[in-house]
Amino acid sequence: MSTAPITLPFETPALILLVGASGTGKTRVSRMFQPCQVLRADDFRRMCADDPGNQSVSGAAWQALETVLRARLALRLTTVVDATFAEEGLRRRFAELADEYGVLSYALAMSTPPDLAHTRNAARTGTTRVPAHVVDNQFAQLREASPNAEGIDRTVLAETLPVLGAALERLAAEEERTADLADVRRVFGEAATELFAWDATSSDPQFRTGTFAAGSESLRVRWMDDGDPYDLRFEALVSCPTDWCVGPAWTPVRSVAELAAAHQNNPLDDTQCVYCDA
Ligand SMILES: [Zn+2]
Repeated sequence: MSTAPITLPFETPALILLVGASGTGKTRVSRMFQPCQVLRADDFRRMCADDPGNQSVSGAAWQALETVLRARLALRLTTVVDATFAEEGLRRRFAELADEYGVLSYALAMSTPPDLAHTRNAARTGTTRVPAHVVDNQFAQLREASPNAEGIDRTVLAETLPVLGAALERLAAEEERTADLADVRRVFGEAATELFAWDATSSDPQFRTGTFAAGSESLRVRWMDDGDPYDLRFEALVSCPTDWCVGPAWTPVRSVAELAAAHQNNPLDDTQCVYCDA
């Protein structure tokens, strides 16, 4: 399995502005970059207000975004800004920022047709859905845009790039880097891996032990692979459910909800005591 790595047509370092109306797929396109390279206006609004669509904090959100962007450009790190960039003034401002730090600026333009953008926007839930007339206004503004005249060095059309291929390649590298946690991720999800570590002494791949821990609390688990591919599972260490028994017991955990129940010593079923028959 060896394919040539995908190369993208950006010189580095660069400031890359994702330019497109709501619903044109900017955030998906941004997945081809490392997450720490992408500054997303919605993320900064969420940090300011717990809500990515809260426009009342836009001033603070842009100020914070610019502070981070300046720090990155001063280190000559390629940075992507995910925002609509419908307003000419905002495009000019970021083009000047790139000049100030001596990096190339790119407009990475979405070419999604308005009908599709409207459909995607309408399907959104919560505050990231904007009124339809706002999407129309953004398209109207962007039709008038002339990035080159506004100081942006180069324009690249997203449709000309291998965006899915580059995104999958990045995720594959991440998957390989974190392969040791693949079973934990598959059963409990990505976020749960941040609470987990295998025991250093646990090298037997069929019966590894590990711990979910945070603060002073922890939950011991073991990976059970006794050869039956339909019966691979994690088990958590709980107290025996029998009143008179003080034995430890193992109980299957197949989801985060079952981990939480085991941690409350309230496992669902099939608990096997180490001492008694429970
Ligand atoms: Zn027991």
